[in-house]
Amino acid sequence: MKSQQSVLEDSLKKFLIELPWRIGYKNFSLIHDVVFKGLYHAATLESLYLTELYPHMSLEELALLENYLFIHPDNLFEGEPFYRAKDSTTSQTRYYHEKGHACGHSFEKSEPVYQCDQCGYDNTCVLCVQCYNPDDHEGHDVRMYFSSGSNSGICDCGDVEAFKVALNCRTQISTDDDGDNNNGSAKKQIAEYEDWQLALKATIRIALDYFLDVLNGSVQKLPAMRNFVNDGHEEYGRTVSDISTLSSEKYGGGIDKNSHDLWYLVLWNDEHHDYTQATRTIRAASDRGHEKAKQLANTIDQIGYAVVNESSNYGKLVAQKAIAEPDGLVMTIVSARDFMREQICRSILEWIVEVTHHKNATFSNYAKKYLAELLLESPTPKLRSTLNTGMGIGKKLLYRNGMLYGDKFLNLTPTTAEVVDPSLNNTIKKYGSVIREDLNNLTYSRLQYFLAFQIRLSKKPRKLLNKAFIPVLISDPISKQMFCDQFVELYPLLLSTLAYSDIEEELNVTWDILIQVFTCPKSVLSIYKKNNVGVIIGPLAELIKNASSKWDFDIGHDIFINREQSMKKPQVDKPIIRAIKVGLQAIENLVDKLLDISMSKAFFEQHNLVFTLNYLLLFQEYWPLVRKWGEHVEIEVFDANVHAHYSLRVLRFVQQLVDSKTDDIELVKKAVSLIIDVLNDRNVPYLAPEIVEFKVSKEKVSFIHPIHSMLSLILEYYGIQNFISMFHKISKIYDILLRSIVLMSQIKVGFWIRNGTTVSYHAEAYVSYLKDLAYLRDVHLCQTALLVDNPAVVFLNIMERWELLDWYVNKKSYLETTYEDKFFYIAEKLVHFFYNLFANKDCFKGFSPKERQANLSKKMILYTLAGDPQSFSRLKHIMPLDDGDDLDSALLEYGDYHEPTGLTDSGKYLLKTKYLKELDPMSLYLDCTRHNDFDSISESLRKYYATKQGGIKEEKVILEPRLDFIEDSDINTRLGAFTRTKEFAKFIYKLLQLSIDNSNESYLPQLLHLIHAILIDDENINGKDHICEHYISIPICDLLLIIVESNMARTIIEKADYLVGILMKCNEVVENLVDCFGETHIVEYKKRKLEAMETNQEKRKRIAEQKKAKIMKKFAKQQQKFLSNANATSAAADTATEGVDDENETDNDHHCVFCSEPQSTGEPFGLMATISTASIFWKVPTDDNDRIRLAFEDFDNQNDIVREDQQLFGIGYNYLNGAKSYLNNQKVKGEVISICGHGLHYKCYIDHFNRSSFIVCPLCSCLHNFFIPTFVPPPRGAMILEEELNYPPIATRYNELLVDSGTLKSGKLMYNMIHGKYDSLSSRSELKDYKNFSHAFFKKATFRSYTRGNSQRDKAFNNLMNMTITLANTVRMAEITTRLEEEEGLYSFLDLIPTTTKTLLKSLIQFRAFAAEKIFDNETSEGLLFQIQDFWDGDVVDADVDDYHLDGVFNEVIVLFFQTDESWHTLKLVGYVKYLTIILTALLRRFLSFRGQYELICDHNKDMDTLDSGSRDFTSLRYLVRLILDSDYFQEAPRLAHYDDNEFWNRLYLAIERLMLPLLRQYVIFEDSLTTVYRGGSEHERLDKFSSLKSNMYSSTVRPDSIMELTKVLDLSTLSELMDKISNNYDTSFESKIFKVVLEAKLSRYEASGILTLEYPGVIRLIDIPKDYSKWINMYSETWNLLETKRDPEFYICLHCGHKMSQKELVKHSSVCVVPCVLFFPIQNTLFIDVRNSMGPLSECYAIPAPYLTKHGEVKSNSLSEKAYLNDYRYKYLSKLFLNQGLYALVSRGLFHMRGNNQVPVDLVDEFSDNWDEGSIDDDNDDDEAYVNQFLQ
Ligand SMILES: [Zn+2]
Ligand SMILES: [Zn+2]
Ligand SMILES: [Zn+2]
Ligand SMILES: [Zn+2]
Ligand SMILES: [Zn+2]
Ligand SMILES: [Zn+2]
Repeated sequence: MKSQQSVLEDSLKKFLIELPWRIGYKNFSLIHDVVFKGLYHAATLESLYLTELYPHMSLEELALLENYLFIHPDNLFEGEPFYRAKDSTTSQTRYYHEKGHACGHSFEKSEPVYQCDQCGYDNTCVLCVQCYNPDDHEGHDVRMYFSSGSNSGICDCGDVEAFKVALNCRTQISTDDDGDNNNGSAKKQIAEYEDWQLALKATIRIALDYFLDVLNGSVQKLPAMRNFVNDGHEEYGRTVSDISTLSSEKYGGGIDKNSHDLWYLVLWNDEHHDYTQATRTIRAASDRGHEKAKQLANTIDQIGYAVVNESSNYGKLVAQKAIAEPDGLVMTIVSARDFMREQICRSILEWIVEVTHHKNATFSNYAKKYLAELLLESPTPKLRSTLNTGMGIGKKLLYRNGMLYGDKFLNLTPTTAEVVDPSLNNTIKKYGSVIREDLNNLTYSRLQYFLAFQIRLSKKPRKLLNKAFIPVLISDPISKQMFCDQFVELYPLLLSTLAYSDIEEELNVTWDILIQVFTCPKSVLSIYKKNNVGVIIGPLAELIKNASSKWDFDIGHDIFINREQSMKKPQVDKPIIRAIKVGLQAIENLVDKLLDISMSKAFFEQHNLVFTLNYLLLFQEYWPLVRKWGEHVEIEVFDANVHAHYSLRVLRFVQQLVDSKTDDIELVKKAVSLIIDVLNDRNVPYLAPEIVEFKVSKEKVSFIHPIHSMLSLILEYYGIQNFISMFHKISKIYDILLRSIVLMSQIKVGFWIRNGTTVSYHAEAYVSYLKDLAYLRDVHLCQTALLVDNPAVVFLNIMERWELLDWYVNKKSYLETTYEDKFFYIAEKLVHFFYNLFANKDCFKGFSPKERQANLSKKMILYTLAGDPQSFSRLKHIMPLDDGDDLDSALLEYGDYHEPTGLTDSGKYLLKTKYLKELDPMSLYLDCTRHNDFDSISESLRKYYATKQGGIKEEKVILEPRLDFIEDSDINTRLGAFTRTKEFAKFIYKLLQLSIDNSNESYLPQLLHLIHAILIDDENINGKDHICEHYISIPICDLLLIIVESNMARTIIEKADYLVGILMKCNEVVENLVDCFGETHIVEYKKRKLEAMETNQEKRKRIAEQKKAKIMKKFAKQQQKFLSNANATSAAADTATEGVDDENETDNDHHCVFCSEPQSTGEPFGLMATISTASIFWKVPTDDNDRIRLAFEDFDNQNDIVREDQQLFGIGYNYLNGAKSYLNNQKVKGEVISICGHGLHYKCYIDHFNRSSFIVCPLCSCLHNFFIPTFVPPPRGAMILEEELNYPPIATRYNELLVDSGTLKSGKLMYNMIHGKYDSLSSRSELKDYKNFSHAFFKKATFRSYTRGNSQRDKAFNNLMNMTITLANTVRMAEITTRLEEEEGLYSFLDLIPTTTKTLLKSLIQFRAFAAEKIFDNETSEGLLFQIQDFWDGDVVDADVDDYHLDGVFNEVIVLFFQTDESWHTLKLVGYVKYLTIILTALLRRFLSFRGQYELICDHNKDMDTLDSGSRDFTSLRYLVRLILDSDYFQEAPRLAHYDDNEFWNRLYLAIERLMLPLLRQYVIFEDSLTTVYRGGSEHERLDKFSSLKSNMYSSTVRPDSIMELTKVLDLSTLSELMDKISNNYDTSFESKIFKVVLEAKLSRYEASGILTLEYPGVIRLIDIPKDYSKWINMYSETWNLLETKRDPEFYICLHCGHKMSQKELVKHSSVCVVPCVLFFPIQNTLFIDVRNSMGPLSECYAIPAPYLTKHGEVKSNSLSEKAYLNDYRYKYLSKLFLNQGLYALVSRGLFHMRGNNQVPVDLVDEFSDNWDEGSIDDDNDDDEAYVNQFLQ
């Protein structure tokens, strides 16, 4: 009797097995739903519990599920199936996963992924947006990126091995209200029902087993099977289909019927064919038209396959397949049943994904748990191959196709080795490797079957497999461990199927498992414990040997070939390349955690070492180079990446392996013995006994020898003395390395020029990023040779290897050597090599791995920093350190940090001076930096010592070689022994002689340094004053003396002289010299030398001099400090356009940028200028309370308002929706002019730009859209005397004043500001150019119409108005910009105005005067009276009122200044009174109309003491307020609640002052422009009263925003005096008349046009953004919900108005917001300057780096997880560019900088972004200077 459970199970099995024929083989569209329903039905105990999961499903639908017969077409439910129906009542549960389980969420495209440096074990440990909890990572280096979608991994949250600390997953916080419990408490949960659990588990098991059974039979697609079938066994395909029929016994009595009369021809996707090939094949295989074929090709690309033909006749399809297949595409013929079964499997997989991600979290957690359990256990019975073993598919093929052999998987890769005693002189070949035919102890779990069979699946299910299985398997540590173990068991087979049988290798899951599972220490540990090292290394070595290597006859073994480079059959190579990548990753994972788990010993064990060496042999001497002869190479194979891809990885592997030291020295000795055996196995031909015969310039040489590197590291770590006796014939070992060193030297001296640039990349890699593991190792083993071999023999071998032995033994002259005229260069390299053989003893110091790293990085940093200052990333790029932190601490110690100073540069490091003395100009570490060489280091050192030694001449400094001496004197002696051989002394002599004979100094400095080192080394070993005999017997000193008496470079002579001095201590040397030069000569020489030595007296004098120099230096320092402080302020001011003023400083007069001629009165001359619309003229809003408050806030407390909901960034000024009203005209825009300061002749402009509307300044690359004329000033300077600005009012009434059209003003201005010569221009021809010039300007600058007419006069009036208002706006712009400096800006605003602006204002005033006098001379004065009257007094009711009211009182005053004959003093008084009237009225209106505005405007903690005296009783203020409230303007006098409150008046007074502040500051700037003496160029001499304004303000005012000093300097009454004047003599005083007319006539008349608008008196700038960049990153995690539909993750922030928008909105936004718009793109830390709606040729969004910088002063890039903070300086700078219109200049300078010329840009965006990536635009000169200076301190 069967149990109820098994009856239920049988029904499910029957359902699955019979499904294909029950739905008639054809009804594919039904499969998905039918499978889902069937599985849900089974999993809920035949739907018993189904409504617990889907409470809202209809009873009708439930009833249809009564039994599995619902699959009958009549029983199908019409509506949306229950599992898909949108269920509005059961809201989706918030995403969560259980505590203690991994999240495993696999990332969808564009989903945020988080990574934390501090918390994660490595950079593969990532978190999903739901799990990421910002609180866990306070202050951490978190990086976020958007997932790319495919194969991008899963969330590791909850995986204890992924994170160093326990994280508080955000999904597990506050789960109290999660969906499980809150809706429908009656809901039953699976946890409470055992029968339900059983049903679920059984369902998953049966589904998986069915899936595996189907897969097991589905072999048609495998290459082995395809080849077999194509190879004359076509009929066998049919058999394969039949034998895969499932047994009814196993499937509960169900019957699996094959479809014998319906066959499909299926075309499969692969990674190797393209669309066209697929289309062609489809057309060949069927009679389909082109369109249909294309469609099918598309389908294949999407889902991985397509049925291209069908037939009831199997044979017919065979024939068609034969026609179509030659193109190489994979086609199979399958029965309809087989095809349908695969669809069923796919649906099963989809169902599994669904239930393991079910929104009922309890249910899904059970599903996950069961899935993991079932996958890790074996099915019963085990699977058997369905194929007949006798059919003739060999074992190798079965293995490579992942097929079963009987019920076993095979293993044909060596994975275990036999240990043989190395003392028996075995070499590696004799070890052999044992191959086991089956995989050792394979579990045969379901998972393993799936992994082995994955290549049989089509694209979609393969992807799903990854998503469905991996997350559940790694969700708890136990199953993760089992998963990993099972993966390793099968690894050889997986790698081999990937390489040989996978046609969609990108989808192979092996890679994902490697990355996600195989990276944790526990998994790796288990590999060592189970002795599985060979299982990981063996298959890779085997794979490379079989598929990616070439036998090399000379070398004697296979060497790796990079198949990516091979030109033939790239598509076939792809899976192999992929497999090699997987293999490399696997072995890297293996050693990566070695240090943590101290399993290092394992690698030295013989049976593992064999695998390692076998593998390394493949890279030993790989990628050899051969020197080309004859023609220059034509096509270069660009293989520069090969080192990064392979060499570095292989060498790193070696390093990591050796770095983990073991204490078992005997084991190490055995290992070394084996390594030496392997190395000695290399065939090397001999020229003479022990002299190897080889020509680097003719034969193959490689840079890479990992086994040598391994040996070198072992010798270094374990002490050379332990191994010396093991070397017998070391020449074989070190000769290979000498070749590489010589090769590098030959390439570097340009001897391989014919090979093209590729070889330089190799040589460069060898001494830079491979240096530590290649070059330094090679030198070390050469040094080892000196210890074990005869030094003279080694020397001769070296000479031969350098191809200089023939020259040395006098067989050939230097010109007859291989090098010919390059001899001198190669000799220099050789000298350098010899020097380091004994000078550098770092490898003998017994460093631990850590110390070695530290020493290396120190040396490399010192030598890199000794030259140019370097940025952090540049250093990081050169450094061999893995860990950024190590570099950080090293830099802190050795370098001085210099902050970035511009918008695009980066922070730089310079060597601390004290470390200079540790440098040697011939160090081995020198090569790593391209910039520094012997000369540059020598120079730095000479400078340093010259200063240190009391300012002696630099050339007198003798640089001592820095020789290392170590404790082991034996090594000290033996390393340098070769230098004391006769052979070597002779070598030195020959080189000296050659140099003298040819008067060639090229290698002499190095050679002398070498001799110096030899003498020191000798003294150290043989005692002081000892001189090696050979250096006496061979007359080296003679040659040195010749050099001393030659006219070679001073430094050479000094050094030679110094060496002669040392040598002459020996009498024999002196005798030799006498023999050679004659007695008298030597006596003379000695005498000269003695004289050079100082007498005592001289010494005292020198010391005195030194003291004096010291004092002078101190003094100079103070002076410099003073100067630099002084510069700081003016430098900050002069930043309108970067760097421009530097150029100006040397250029006192304007010179034309084209012809270089100075400006003269004879010819029109102009400044290049930009006329643009600035959106900076903010008003005090009426509806934005925060902004109103801020307008009156202290200047040092201007923090922008931050959004309540975001708490991240400011809301900005409301450009978009601000309410326009009678209190706020909303006019933020105004035309302004900015210049770069460079000028040119009108004539030259015409010549070069041909009247183009855009000009690029050839000096500074700024783009301009016009230029404004500037005039030679009168000889005494352009200025107006103060008296001329101060005369009493001419008009007595305000209205009379307005309509005055002056007759004298322009003439006066012209006289005072412009050279008299211009005045005499009168004829038409003389003025022609000026007129053209001016008219062009007016054409550009006509923005608005101020008249109604269209006559010449109207035009003239308009032009003058526009010009004047642009001038006024420009003054306002200058004033507003200085507010950025906050409180400081209040005091020193005049000083903050850049010289260029001063020049600009002067020129504009000149131009305005000139225009009125000379250009419009017919229309001005009385001529324009009508227009003037009409404008000021016309009937405004009908007209466009806007144009009749100017924006702001300042503009009005400036217009009147040029229009009338009234004095400046009168006009500024008029404006002062008028604005007071406006302010008072506006404030009162605000208080009375808007609740709370009084508090916003006046509620500040200021007390009465800070008011200016005389105002404190507020009598006049009260009087004026009374007047206003009683006036007609307020129809019915309202009552002020605060009338009697003294505090109210106090605060009102302060508010008035604040509002008056901008106007008065603008007055000051304009008046300063009028009165400053200007003689051209950049010199402006300001009046005393303005010069002392700053200090007066500092000393006299209590509040920085007080207007007291301003009124004083402007010669105006103080505010209280003014109010007194108005109220005391109301109706009679001039002031009161103005007040009255404004109040009674103007206010109501201009109310609609916004006369009551108040100018914004606070700081105007970009919005506030958070200091800490990670705030942006966290922002995503707080708003994202994985279960909700995705939204556009990429947003931009407008830095003007704070609007957050998607990319789509950008265009629209920039057209309504500020132009140019500055947008921040948080995720990439980039700014975009949107100039699309602005000036002509600039028409893009230009990217510049955002001001979030790392602590190294570099722009934080998205690929780095470094912390970054807002650089305030940079951000403020950006605000400044927004205010002073420098953004155009920034963009255009970036665009045109490199061009340097005046072309209009075409697609230069790339160039621009390249520039800032480098981070080093034109800062070279400054840096050089800074560098020099630091040595002088
Ligand atoms: Zn997660
Ligand atoms: Zn989590
Ligand atoms: Zn963290
Ligand atoms: Zn010129
Ligand atoms: Zn310029
Ligand atoms: Zn905006």
